[in-house]
Amino acid sequence: MGRGKPKVKQQPINQHPRPNETSLRISFLQQAAKLMAEKSKSKNDIPSLLSKLYMEELAEVRNIQQTLLSKDFRRSFCRCCNRIWIPNQNGENGIEVKMSKDRIYRKCTDCNSIASFVRNPKYRSRNEKS
Ligand SMILES: [Zn+2]
Repeated sequence: MGRGKPKVKQQPINQHPRPNETSLRISFLQQAAKLMAEKSKSKNDIPSLLSKLYMEELAEVRNIQQTLLSKDFRRSFCRCCNRIWIPNQNGENGIEVKMSKDRIYRKCTDCNSIASFVRNPKYRSRNEKS
């Protein structure tokens, strides 16, 4: 039996990692899910369900391969029902945002799940800072 750590292949620092099958699959599923979400007309029609199916598949691939999604994409869909919050054919984007004095509430209109975040009134984005 071999002992010790297996040797790790050294990669040149400035070289981008080659796109492997997993990242290609993830990017395909992302695009397909977005496209279907755009095509849907109501909450439970076929494109909308297809979009959610693709997102489920994507989550499965991610779980196995331990891949991180981009921050923007991670924040653009519902964790409960996999609805992507982009406008469908009726212009509904499936999300409601309410603000209270110290919290922000985000509600998914497909499954009515609510997420809340601390609101920091003093927060300024990089562009707003002088
Ligand atoms: Zn939802």
